[in-house]
Amino acid sequence: QSHQPGSEAAMEPTPRSDPLARKTGGKLADKVALITGGDSGIGRAIALAYAAEGASVAIVYLDEHADAKETMYMVEELGGQCLLLDGDVGDENSCIRMVEQVIAKFGRLDILVNNAGQQFPQAHIEDISAEQLEKTFRTNIFSMFFMVKAAKPYLRAGARIINTASVTAYRGSERLLDYSATKGAIVAFTRSLAQQLLEDEIHVNAVAPGPVWTPLIPASFSADEVARFGKDVPMKRPGQPNEVAPCYVFLATEGASYMSGQVLHPNGGEIING
Ligand code: NAD
Repeated sequence: QSHQPGSEAAMEPTPRSDPLARKTGGKLADKVALITGGDSGIGRAIALAYAAEGASVAIVYLDEHADAKETMYMVEELGGQCLLLDGDVGDENSCIRMVEQVIAKFGRLDILVNNAGQQFPQAHIEDISAEQLEKTFRTNIFSMFFMVKAAKPYLRAGARIINTASVTAYRGSERLLDYSATKGAIVAFTRSLAQQLLEDEIHVNAVAPGPVWTPLIPASFSADEVARFGKDVPMKRPGQPNEVAPCYVFLATEGASYMSGQVLHPNGGEIING
């Protein structure tokens, strides 16, 4: 991932302390969560927030790099158990294998967070190749079909599926054409799947973050865009991953027992219609 030197300083995000500490009798005690893209950015913040609430977590990452192990150590420091799963969520067999690994290790699966995502820097209509389109859709939305199909036999009444969409699903993106199309699809997928799985008492919801400062940003945007990142929302700053993770905690807990097919919007105050 390319990192623009000094880009964080240019953005001046509001510093946040992270008060995570594992609670005894947390809201997710004895639950097992599988989080795709759980090694980094928003996914890591979800893994830590779930571990703090007492859950065991399995985190899916693509390719070996330091982030996954670091996240595992952070979860273990919170007293949680963490299983690392190296696999491509755009590949159906890989998804089946990863779910089987979770069941082999923990014997159950209660919360599936479909959070892995990617975007390509070049996304003008004239520049998008069929290969890029295929890759973006495979990683961002085919993956959700594959993971849910693989996980469904193990999900019991009360289980939760939480999908990461994006504000671009609603306002579009001049630049991220293929990416925003996958995020719109994720909202429709969430609403449709929620209706299908009502009879199984499996709740399906989504989170549509606005701009959040994660490794995805410097890897996908120019230095200029990075400097402006998050300045166009009412709060005039990007969010931090730990300002988004509480939505995922809420949707995983008993507190969300009357919600399915909904989208939460941690996005710096932007009003969403639709
Ligand atoms: P990130 O780059 O830190 O995390 C992306 C994760 O996805 C990584 O852990 C990576 O290993 C994983 N991943 C990518 N392709 C994969 C594949 N084929 N198989 C398995 N894992 C794969 O970025 P992030 O910003 O934390 O992104 C997490 C999610 O949040 C994404 O779905 C992204 O679209 C969404 N999102 C991000 C923002 C933002 O501003 N950062 C805003 C809205 C939505």
